[in-house]
Amino acid sequence: MAIDVAGISREQVEQVVRSVLLRQLSGKPAVDHKPNPLVVNISARHCHLTDDHIEILFGKGHTLTPQKWLYQEGYYAAEETVAIVGPRRRMLPEVRVLGPSRGASQVELAFTDAISLGLDLPVRISGDVQGTPGCLIVGPKGSLELREGVIRAMRHVHMSPADMAHFGVKNGEPMQLKVESPGCTTVLDNLVVRGGDDKIKLEVHLDTDEGNAVNLPNATKVDLLKQSGGSCGCRK
Ligand SMILES: [Zn+2]
Repeated sequence: MAIDVAGISREQVEQVVRSVLLRQLSGKPAVDHKPNPLVVNISARHCHLTDDHIEILFGKGHTLTPQKWLYQEGYYAAEETVAIVGPRRRMLPEVRVLGPSRGASQVELAFTDAISLGLDLPVRISGDVQGTPGCLIVGPKGSLELREGVIRAMRHVHMSPADMAHFGVKNGEPMQLKVESPGCTTVLDNLVVRGGDDKIKLEVHLDTDEGNAVNLPNATKVDLLKQSGGSCGCRK
């Protein structure tokens, strides 16, 4: 089934990844050197696609074109966007594709997006999509039915082995993020550690709902704290 999106895409500039670089500059003892500065970024709604799905949606032989490089080396917001269609034909136009391509396609939305689509989304760690809702993905050259893979990404912090050692945490453990901002200082629990290799930079990912709730663009200070006890609430 093909749906013509030409008439419904709008002149809306999708701000894919709004970011604020928050460095801890003063008041720290000399020994408290973090391996990396703490960066907190908001991931706006986006999707990841397989090579096969890119060809279905954008045409035979098509590959993604980087538009903006993200903070983690090698990752980018692509020029390509798709429309995400939920039950009852409600739709989000111009959802940004992030590159590079992946082994499985996945759509990451905020709860507000999910409500507007009529989807009841589970909170999942990226890649853990078993039993999640699907959607229709529409591109300029074709469309496909994604059987599962629409999630609200669990808030998380990317860490190198040195970062994990610095904070005394392991992959999959929960942390807390304290955000000081005018009128709405907030501590977010269950920020799951996503451990990577030495190239991974210390970076927190929140979605737009979370970022707006804590007034991240106007934040004056951010801190990562160990969460005592409990699990992050994720399934793995
Ligand atoms: Zn992330």
